[in-house]
Amino acid sequence: MSGDTVLIAGGGIAGLSLALTLHQIGVPVRVFEASPDVKPLGVGINLQPNAVRELFDLGIGQDALDEVGLPALEWALVGLNGNDIHAEPRGLSAGYLWPQYAVHRGAFLMLLYRTVLERLGSDAVMTGARATGYAQDADGVTLHLRHGDGTTEDVHGALLVGADGIHSELRAQMHPEQGPIHWGGALMWRGTVRARPIRTGSSFVGLGTDRHRMVIYPISKPDADGRALINWIAEVTQDSDGGWPGERWFIPAETEDFVHHFDDFRYDWLDVPAMLSASDVAYVNPMIDRDPVPTWVEGRVALMGDAAHAMYPTGSNGASQAIVDARVIGAKLLAHGVSPQALAAYDAELCGPVSELVLRNRQAGPFGLLTLVSERSGGVFEDIDDVIPPEERAAFIADYKAAAGFAVERLNAAPPTIPKGARIA
Ligand SMILES: Cc1cc2nc3c(=O)[nH]c(=O)nc-3n(C[C@H](O)[C@H](O)[C@H](O)COP(=O)(O)OP(=O)(O)OC[C@H]3O[C@@H](n4cnc5c(N)ncnc54)[C@H](O)[C@@H]3O)c2cc1C
Repeated sequence: MSGDTVLIAGGGIAGLSLALTLHQIGVPVRVFEASPDVKPLGVGINLQPNAVRELFDLGIGQDALDEVGLPALEWALVGLNGNDIHAEPRGLSAGYLWPQYAVHRGAFLMLLYRTVLERLGSDAVMTGARATGYAQDADGVTLHLRHGDGTTEDVHGALLVGADGIHSELRAQMHPEQGPIHWGGALMWRGTVRARPIRTGSSFVGLGTDRHRMVIYPISKPDADGRALINWIAEVTQDSDGGWPGERWFIPAETEDFVHHFDDFRYDWLDVPAMLSASDVAYVNPMIDRDPVPTWVEGRVALMGDAAHAMYPTGSNGASQAIVDARVIGAKLLAHGVSPQALAAYDAELCGPVSELVLRNRQAGPFGLLTLVSERSGGVFEDIDDVIPPEERAAFIADYKAAAGFAVERLNAAPPTIPKGARIA
């Protein structure tokens, strides 16, 4: 491994986006992924326009994204009574220069993985290699690995980036004082079903109340029979003492276990219990995050993606922020060389504002409008304008987009994070 190689622990969306970014600017890179194989796991995620812009700059264009999802056209909140609370266009129809995409997480991950192997070579990602810790000195960093067969290995590089997700072992070493995973009491069941898309045909719909709701959006174009793959999240908040009851994420679940929570969610445009019962896959997944830490960097080691800022999915921006992290790290390496200074500059730019976003998502992010509806009307309203005036709703959502880095005017006017053709000196 050459002396200026960047080591990446974790081959999820964050780690693979960083590998592609570093390859693009001419920095040698190796990825170490704990799983024995990279598999198309998960269900739906959103890629906000700020992330899609970066994917386009990486040469992952509309054709490739159309294979794994579809452009989102609308974001809508609907009350339990079926009346609209707020609806607005998204992506190109909202004036962005880049679309927003709703994609299948697993299919998108495989797209990134294939692209990494094509561009960087088949040995760019070592699977079955779990990062267990690191050591560093003035000259470089050593990553400790444990292989699937139990053997261990040390690899050396110039910098190390922990992209090893919410249970990050590198974060645990960097911040041994960090608290346990935070759980606020919300349980999410997630799954997919083949069904007719509602509203625009590509609408993200949040339906219900602040403590009891569905999120529904398609992640494929409709087939000839008019049915698309629909992603759904069924969410119920119960009282919690702050402790997370489980050990794992994405535990397979049976619809009978939770469908009764949604018995009243029947409308002439959607029968939620029928939709849930027709699902082909379902998982239970407590809504968890981590308290922010004061820094994501220790010398030659940085954290990114969920390892840095695991957040509630209320803002649909965890994956998008992971991609943006990758691009900002690349930009800082261009500016400061493959050096601890580059990581410090990345930390200075993102750790503070993204940590605030983690806490904002804990307060429901844009779903905070549902909290306002509950507080002001108990969820009972005929005309939402009497509860939250349109200007207040628009300002609430605009404020969230600004905090999450996808305010339309600002994003459209921003220069590329990495200038076209830029290569490290
Ligand atoms: C299996 C899975 C399914 C998911 N499904 C969804 C979904 O349906 N909807 C949604 O909104 N979000 C989902 N997420 C989370 C979402 O992908 C992330 O929030 C977001 O994309 C940020 O990605 P990340 O790469 O930082 O983290 P992750 O996606 O968690 O990726 C981290 C990667 O690091 C690997 N890893 C973990 N520990 C180590 C270690 N010690 N050494 C080396 N590698 C390690 C993991 O195997 C994984 O590949 C899922 C995550 C996973 C792991």
